[in-house]
This record gives sequence, structure tokens and C-alpha cells, in this order.
Amino acid sequence: MATYYKCANCGYKIKLPFKSRSQVPLIYFVKCPKCGYLNVVTPNDVEEEDVFHFQCPVCGKALFVEGKPPFKVRCPLCKSVLEVDEKGNVKVIKKGEPPKIKELLALLGALARSENPLAGLLGGFFIGLLLESFLKYEGEAEKLE
Ligand SMILES: [Zn+2]
Ligand SMILES: [Zn+2]
Repeated sequence: MATYYKCANCGYKIKLPFKSRSQVPLIYFVKCPKCGYLNVVTPNDVEEEDVFHFQCPVCGKALFVEGKPPFKVRCPLCKSVLEVDEKGNVKVIKKGEPPKIKELLALLGALARSENPLAGLLGGFFIGLLLESFLKYEGEAEKLE
């Protein structure tokens, strides 16, 4: 069980079909299989079990893996192979290719240098926002063993 919600009416632990809290929609309805109560669930109400959250030390992408460390995982963005020990420390085993983020950042630099200062500013602003939300959006790391 990765995510569950305690029924607001009877306290029954309802299993949810999500691998991580970050996958739960902003509002989710779930009927309690025990008492039939229709629960309105938000991500903050969801409990997690055996889900490990971390950040890729190479590209900065937010990631999660099901299970308890130690394990070896691959970052879906930069393809780096990472090792997580029992204490949750993340070590880079094999550094992946430079992620597309680098290209975005290069573009950002190009826009900032463009003739029209306002276009550069706006472009940079939007790319910065995009980049930030992309890195913050949690992805699932591929488990290697
Ligand atoms: Zn219930
Ligand atoms: Zn990465």
C-alpha cells in the first residue's frame, strides 16, 4: 500500500490507487468500502506508506520511489543512476547525460541577450517559471534493483 486515506466517518483505512501523494488530484472522491461514506480527499489528507521522496542531485528533479531504501534508481529526466542508502542518503553512481534543462537555460540566456530588453525579460520569466514547475513536479524514479 503506497497511499491511503482514513475514512472521515468510521476511520477505516481506504486504499487509494496512487503511488505517491503528489499524484493525488486536488480534489478526489472516494467511497468508504466499509460504511459507504463519500469522502472528499485532498492531497494533504492522504497518508503515505513506504514512499521515498528525494531530489535528483544531478538535475534537481523532484522524485519518488515506492519502497524503503536502500535501492538503486534511475532519474527519468537525466538518466543518472543513483544509490539511496538505508539512511536515505543519495549518491550518484553514474552521472547521466546533461538534461534538457540545460538547453532551456541556454535559451533563457539567449533571450536575455536579445535586442528587445522587454522580450528578453518576459521570455526569461516564463522559461524560469516553466523550469521551476517542471522540476517541482514530482516524477517516479525507475527502480533498478
Ligand atoms: Zn467509513
Ligand atoms: Zn536527474
